[in-house]
Amino acid sequence: MPLKVENLKISTKDGKITPVKNAFLTVEKGERVALVGESGSGKSLTALSILKLLPENLIAEGNITVDDKNVFKLTGEKLRQFRWKDVSMIFQDPSASLNPLIKVGEQVGEAIKFHHPELSKKEITEKVIELFKIADIPEPHKRINAYPHHLSGGLKQRVCIAMALACNPKYVIADEPTTALDVTVQGKILELLKKISERNNVGILLITHDMGVVAEFAKKIYVMYAGYTVEHGTVEEVFSNPLHPYTEGLLKCSPTLSGKPKRKLPSIPGSIPQPNEKISGCPFHPRCPIKKEICEREFPPAKWKNGRFVLCHLR
Ligand code: SF4
Ligand code: MG
Repeated sequence: MPLKVENLKISTKDGKITPVKNAFLTVEKGERVALVGESGSGKSLTALSILKLLPENLIAEGNITVDDKNVFKLTGEKLRQFRWKDVSMIFQDPSASLNPLIKVGEQVGEAIKFHHPELSKKEITEKVIELFKIADIPEPHKRINAYPHHLSGGLKQRVCIAMALACNPKYVIADEPTTALDVTVQGKILELLKKISERNNVGILLITHDMGVVAEFAKKIYVMYAGYTVEHGTVEEVFSNPLHPYTEGLLKCSPTLSGKPKRKLPSIPGSIPQPNEKISGCPFHPRCPIKKEICEREFPPAKWKNGRFVLCHLR
């Protein structure tokens, strides 16, 4: 049973703003999936809603299930367990995820102790070292005693990855995990996540605005625009034959599947609408190079064909 998001809508409690209007995605165990879009597309909120970590003023509707669990119904101890054992998360800035005053080994140890209070101090340390090895942290025996500021950005992110794996989760959500890192470190972190996914059969949902990262990492892709999932398919299919004009725009200015150069999101003319902006018809029409008159009037139909999805009148 996969991690599944269906008909997700996220709005402010007063109902005035709806940053996520209709999003969906599925991640199977051991699968590497990318969720892509410009900032403001709703991808991070979608991720946070999977862990019930949305800011107080937002509410989510729809269906989110992980294996047989209805995420919306989880509370208290069940939710706490869920956040480590079912789905864990890695954030963009490792410095913000770590406590600067506590040795990194202890921080990872805390996560283990939380869930395995029966383990002795020695057993916990052994487990931390094991996790540091999995995260390819060199000299783990030494590094467990380091404070975050002793470590490079890449090493800090590896500690966060070790922490995310502390309770053997089935799924890991990584929100722009390499954006704050050097280009040379980026590839290595992606390699590590790939290895973990394969070895531990962990499903990984990688959130990124970078098509180069998608090409390097994922097998499946979901593209979001203005709170909607607008395209879905395998990375191979979508890169060789994008259906949605937005995806096409993203790819046009991006490196090819094998290409190296890392770039920010390309400049598609115009900008993503504000969450409270009312746009008639297709939300992409003000920026779409191939729009027709119907696009300004009618919301596009959701089309599924051979496992691919597109939200567009013309494709
Ligand atoms: Fe462009 Fe029309 Fe398709 Fe929207 S529905 S993406 S405006 S062609
Ligand atoms: Mg974000």
